[in-house]
Amino acid sequence: MYNIILLGPPGVGKGTQGARLRDRYHIPLISMGDILREAVREGTPLGKEAKSYMDKGELVPDDVVVGIVGERLKGEDCSRGFILDGFPRTIAQAEALERLLEKEGKEITHVILLDVPEDEIIRRLSGRRLCKVCGAAYHLVFNPPKEEGRCDRCGGELYQRDDDNEETIKARLEVYHSQTTPLVEYYEKKGLLRRVDGVDTIEGIFERITRILEEGNNSPKNP
Ligand code: ADP
Ligand code: ADP
Ligand code: ZN
Repeated sequence: MYNIILLGPPGVGKGTQGARLRDRYHIPLISMGDILREAVREGTPLGKEAKSYMDKGELVPDDVVVGIVGERLKGEDCSRGFILDGFPRTIAQAEALERLLEKEGKEITHVILLDVPEDEIIRRLSGRRLCKVCGAAYHLVFNPPKEEGRCDRCGGELYQRDDDNEETIKARLEVYHSQTTPLVEYYEKKGLLRRVDGVDTIEGIFERITRILEEGNNSPKNP
C-alpha cells in the first residue's frame, strides 16, 4: 500500500508527478491547492477565508487545512492508498496528519522530496498553465498542450493562476523555506524521506519515483 506525501517547494512538479502516480497506481491524488482553489471558485465560506491567504502566498491556517484532509482521508477511495500533494506544509500539520492516520490504523509509507534549483522553479511557475476543468498542469515551453490553450485530457480551457506572478512566487518560496523545510528533517528522522532530483524530463523523474516506490515492495511476498 502506498500512502505517499509529495514534498517540495512550489513548482517542483508535485502535481505533475502526482497525477501520473494516481494513474499508475489507481489511488486518489489529494491536492490541497486544488481543493482550496475550487472552494474559492465556488465562493464557499472556506473559499472566502482561504483566498486572502492564497493571494498573498501565505499559508491557510493549519486547523482549516487539517479539517479538510481529515474529511478527505475518510473517503472509501483512500482505503487502498493515497497521494498527498501540498499537505502537510508545517510541522503542526504533519503531527495532526499522524494522529488522523493513527486513528484509522494507517501510516505514511513514503515521503518523496523533489529538489530543483530556485531559478528553474521560477521558470516553471512563470510558464505554468492549468486546466480549468480537470486541474492538469502544463507549461508554455516545457510541457505545452497539443492544442494551444486547451487541455489534452479533457479539452478544458487553460488558465494562469493569480499567484503565479513573480512577486507572489517569491513570497511562496520564502514561506516554504521558513515553514515547510523543517518537514525534511522531521520525515528524515522517521526514515521515510526519499530525495529525488527534480531536474530531468517529466518522464525521467516519474521513473525515479516509481523505482523508489517499487523497490520498497518488501511485502510478505518477499520475506
Ligand atoms: P504550489 O503547487 O505552487 O505548491 P499549491 O497549489 O499547493 O501551490 O498551493 C497554493 C496555495 O494554497 C498556497 O500558496 C497556500 O496559500 C494554500 N495552501 C495549499 N496547501 C496548503 C497547506 N497544506 N497549508 C496551508 N495552505 C496551503
Ligand atoms: P507543483 O505542483 O510542485 O507546484 P507542477 O506540477 O504544477 O508543480 O509544475 C510546475 C510547472 O512546471 C508546470 O507548468 C509543469 O508543467 C512544469 N513541470 C513539471 N515538471 C517539469 C519538468 N520535469 N521539467 C520541466 N517543467 C516541468
Ligand atoms: Zn483538463
